[in-house]
Amino acid sequence: MGLLSLGTPLPWEESREYNEHVRQNGISQLLEMVSASFHRKDDKYLWGDEVEYTIVKFEDTQKSAKIAVDKDYILEELNEGGVHFDTVLKNDINFHPEYGRFMIEATPKGPYDGEKLSQYEYVEQNMAVRRVIADKLLPENKLLTITAYPLMGVGQFTSPPTKANSPSSKSLFLGDDVTNRHVRFPTLTANIRKRRGEKVAINIPLYKDSKTPEFDDTLSSSLPRSLFAEDQEPSLGAQIPGHIYMDAMGFGMGSSCLQVTVQAPSLARARYLYDSWANFAPIFLSLTSAAPIFKGFLADQDVRWNVISMSVDDRTPYERDVKPLREGNEHGGLKDLSQIRKIAKSRYDSIDQYLGDITNYEDFAKTGTGAKYGYFNEFLNDINPALNEKVLEQLSSFKSSDGEHFFDRALAKHFAHLFIRDPLVIFNERIHQDNATSTDHFENIQSTNWQTLRFKPPTQAAVPGNVDTPGWRVEFRPMEIQITDFENAAFANFITLLGDAILANDFNFYIPISKIEENMKTAHKRDSTLSGKFHFKKDIKDKLNYQTAELSLDQIINGCDTFVGLVPWVKAHFEEKFNVKLTPQGQYSRLYYYFDLISKRASGKIPTTASYIRSFVISHPDYKSDSKVSETINYELLKKFELITDYKDLDSLVGFFGEELGQYLYANKVHDAKVL
Ligand code: ADP
Ligand code: MG
Ligand code: MG
Ligand code: MG
Repeated sequence: MGLLSLGTPLPWEESREYNEHVRQNGISQLLEMVSASFHRKDDKYLWGDEVEYTIVKFEDTQKSAKIAVDKDYILEELNEGGVHFDTVLKNDINFHPEYGRFMIEATPKGPYDGEKLSQYEYVEQNMAVRRVIADKLLPENKLLTITAYPLMGVGQFTSPPTKANSPSSKSLFLGDDVTNRHVRFPTLTANIRKRRGEKVAINIPLYKDSKTPEFDDTLSSSLPRSLFAEDQEPSLGAQIPGHIYMDAMGFGMGSSCLQVTVQAPSLARARYLYDSWANFAPIFLSLTSAAPIFKGFLADQDVRWNVISMSVDDRTPYERDVKPLREGNEHGGLKDLSQIRKIAKSRYDSIDQYLGDITNYEDFAKTGTGAKYGYFNEFLNDINPALNEKVLEQLSSFKSSDGEHFFDRALAKHFAHLFIRDPLVIFNERIHQDNATSTDHFENIQSTNWQTLRFKPPTQAAVPGNVDTPGWRVEFRPMEIQITDFENAAFANFITLLGDAILANDFNFYIPISKIEENMKTAHKRDSTLSGKFHFKKDIKDKLNYQTAELSLDQIINGCDTFVGLVPWVKAHFEEKFNVKLTPQGQYSRLYYYFDLISKRASGKIPTTASYIRSFVISHPDYKSDSKVSETINYELLKKFELITDYKDLDSLVGFFGEELGQYLYANKVHDAKVL
């Protein structure tokens, strides 16, 4: 999330009047950006991670672990103008706000250099220092990197106590005190609900044990309520039996992930990389799975993804195809009914289209016709998402002042799809912008399309030769956050190196995008890491055909008869690139163990975080075979994670990472967490 715009959000009804204004000016801004950077070439392979943290408050005498909603002031201290900003800068870190008041995000201040071996070792050190700096400001609390806080919305789960009294979400469980206090966040929450025409409804399959209730029975204890008219919604059908029912954006956007952004040499290479990464999204969602508990219940899935997807689903009943189009407010207050279309997916979802690995883009620019693709073919984009036809036409027919065409059909369709969405928050002070120097309107739409991958164009400042401004970047967004810096560094490095290996080898990873959709569903099945079969390109060296094989994650990651395996492939690429050998005892043992972790998680030699958590709950003496996670279980689980986070206890490390990695991490604690 970028810096927050300051200002006054327009009231919902009034802001509707500016939807088209924001879209149109957003497209003008995009055209300025692309015009400035279309020919940009030979940019360095830079990269960076984003880690999201949960601030936990342990109450040892009561054996409870809550989320702290009164510590967000540290962000002010850590940001520009704050008392600790110098330290933060010196240590090459940036702290950012996040959706939850109990969350913070941290990134490196500047991107790492992908061509330098030392940077792949440095990333973990950078992550470790972030914790040391933030933890020091919070002597009564602990920063944990958990994907979803298990007791979100259960009883008194915040410190200090809060009430479910949120006018923005109208949730039965979460109050506004859980949401970031910047006006953008409650406004976002309220506007998603208003546009949708009802509260968001998140229903996640409940894990079935011998004494599991037929339905989520937390409602009977919260109902009857009489705060909001919407309190009736669950009993009117929003809640589905056999599911965990949640009703607020915070259940989704309050969860944490690990993101990686890399910069490609050029627009064409960024498009190829984006497409090649597409199928790795479900694969790495599954492999990093870390979220088997929601609202105090074991779920029959291991990941957060669809929870967030449902938590920000602002589509109207007509757009979701559950009700016919009618007059009134069922179309999000839109006056121009011609703009209304059915939309298959939430604005937080997997990508719908490939960008196309155009090979003759410089020639295409001259004539505007005859785009040639490398491996991409239109038939691979086989799910036909809704498009903004006006934007499609505008981009396709655009000519720059030099008479150049920038948008072939595949690229135009990418933005035409993103621009079917309405802006969610419009600031009064930011309505009128200079499109040559601002990107706010573009970002308004772009940054609220939360997809598995994000294609980040350069800003207008990014003219060729200006090395400090970011170029064409691709962001990999599906991964769940891991407990330790060691794991987060391992996955961030791996995705970055996978991208580098892809760019260096030019293999063909394309499969029909509908198959990636199926993989996304597979990744949502409980234990998919071990038992899921994923569609994967049958032969990545075969440039002409798009046949798929169904492989397990073990086969994809560690290799099999038909595929070399990602770990052996990426590791060999790394060793060759830097002319080193990765061994458990050698100089680069840390890097060796990064690969080892990923290999062992995929083969099942060590559990995924999700499977570790599920076993922890089920084998706990307090567990009553009813799929419920008590306060004590939650407390002990998070205490266990505290020990693992700090590499403090050998038994815990071995239990989580297995004998070899556990021993290694115990002996080689935090890489080098010295604060400068
Ligand atoms: P967002 O939340 O919009 O994704 P952030 O600023 O939180 O943006 O994170 C962006 C990430 O991209 C950071 O890790 C940052 O280091 C990295 N980054 C910044 N500039 C570049 C660049 N030129 N190339 C690649 N990565 C970059
Ligand atoms: Mg974030
Ligand atoms: Mg961010
Ligand atoms: Mg990001």
